[in-house]
Amino acid sequence: MEQRRSRSKVFLRNAADFLWPPRSLVSRERGLGKGPLAPHEFGQIHFLGGAVCDRCGAPLGAEMDEGAVCAACIARPPRWDRARAAFVYEASSRRLVLDLKRSGRRDGLGTFSGWMAQAGRSLLDEADVMAPVPLHYARLVSRGFNQSAWLAGALARRTGVPVAVDALKRTRRTPTQGGLSARARRRNVAGAFAVRPRRAGSVQGKRVLLIDDVLTTGATLGACTRALKKAGARHVDVLVLARVVRETDVTI
Ligand SMILES: [Zn+2]
Repeated sequence: MEQRRSRSKVFLRNAADFLWPPRSLVSRERGLGKGPLAPHEFGQIHFLGGAVCDRCGAPLGAEMDEGAVCAACIARPPRWDRARAAFVYEASSRRLVLDLKRSGRRDGLGTFSGWMAQAGRSLLDEADVMAPVPLHYARLVSRGFNQSAWLAGALARRTGVPVAVDALKRTRRTPTQGGLSARARRRNVAGAFAVRPRRAGSVQGKRVLLIDDVLTTGATLGACTRALKKAGARHVDVLVLARVVRETDVTI
């Protein structure tokens, strides 16, 4: 009996491995065990767990106090209240994001939501509801998934914070932001988001946590924040998987 049970467990584990092959999320090598990254790959990811700017989540000098704000945010405060990112978007971490965003690879979601929950713990604790950044309907149909909604769903399963998955919508199709300057990105997405009138109750008077995969210049997240606040959201925070730290990394 005991033997049969352990054998069925092995079978189940093998079946799970077949459905979700334990390949590295970076190198795609097989047989690395249960972890999604090989140790040397894990060491190349710059997690934003130390001192960060309270407004934009950019790394600060280690001597800065909690709640400190970076020079860029003092000069030009973002529309949202606070932002956090799990790791820096750069050459060594790019594949993690692109496999999720472009290839629809889902097997990293459990790991990613764990990293995001850690980086955004206080934001999640205080959030009433999460709202993923939406794709335009036509793009959603052609791609078949919205990676930001996947991240929000994985975070909801982990934390119990509800998701208003369709609270925000894109009111018009915008050209891709890739290769545009910060100013052009802001112009590109200005007024491109709105809260669906029938879903206004899910954000009105609430503390909303916006979820996205990457924070680049913040143009998209700023436009979403504006739409949420216009619909009556009391407070808007931002939690992303990765954030660009240097301008030269703006390639997404
Ligand atoms: Zn900042």
